[in-house]
Amino acid sequence: MNILAIGCHPDDVEGCCGGTLAKFAKQGHQIFMGSIANGSVGHRVIPSDELKQIRLEEARAGAKIIGAQHFCIGADDLTVEASNMDLLKEVVEIVRWAKPDLVITHNPQDYMRDHEQTSELVTSAAFCATVHHLATKSLEYDRFVPVYYMETAAGVDFCPTDYVDISDTIDIKLAAATCHKSQLTWLKDHDDMDFLETLRMISRFRGNQCGVLYAEGFRHYSGWQRFATKRLLP
Ligand SMILES: [Zn+2]
Repeated sequence: MNILAIGCHPDDVEGCCGGTLAKFAKQGHQIFMGSIANGSVGHRVIPSDELKQIRLEEARAGAKIIGAQHFCIGADDLTVEASNMDLLKEVVEIVRWAKPDLVITHNPQDYMRDHEQTSELVTSAAFCATVHHLATKSLEYDRFVPVYYMETAAGVDFCPTDYVDISDTIDIKLAAATCHKSQLTWLKDHDDMDFLETLRMISRFRGNQCGVLYAEGFRHYSGWQRFATKRLLP
């Protein structure tokens, strides 16, 4: 299968579903992962232009550890709007390029607006990619694709409908997250958060809920024709 995971910021996918993507990759599936925003404001000291380049390199390193092809649409942080037609078309082009069997993105309700707007953009793009007259570089995709919402920040207000056992890929998830060194500093400065410890804790918490050591939780988007007759998550 082709798996497409789109987060808002450069580290979101690793943090929220990196163990699942690594598990997919180990099973031989093709993984496409990346972000809509470039991470331009996530630091107190490094200027935005320099930070964008650093975060791009960190994200590429994280994707490499997971075994994924990486992309970044490059919108500035705090400007992600689902009503932006140009941005929607850029996400549509990513869907048409990746030809996914499964799309993963943020939960519609999360801790910040950029994440929530990303959720709406990606869910919408997974439909709009099938529309011929919405022209992008690639031709329209030939089918609707199921969408899964990944864990919210620290698991707040998120009750999974599906779990993935990541006990054998938790180390890959944490190694990929460790690539985001500028973000580890920012989250400590801005949120007093130890990012890696938080990821391990949430994964252990979800694992406890489903009877394994470490897990990631997901919610299935229940729109028309967005269902499959077999389990898609690994
Ligand atoms: Zn984020």
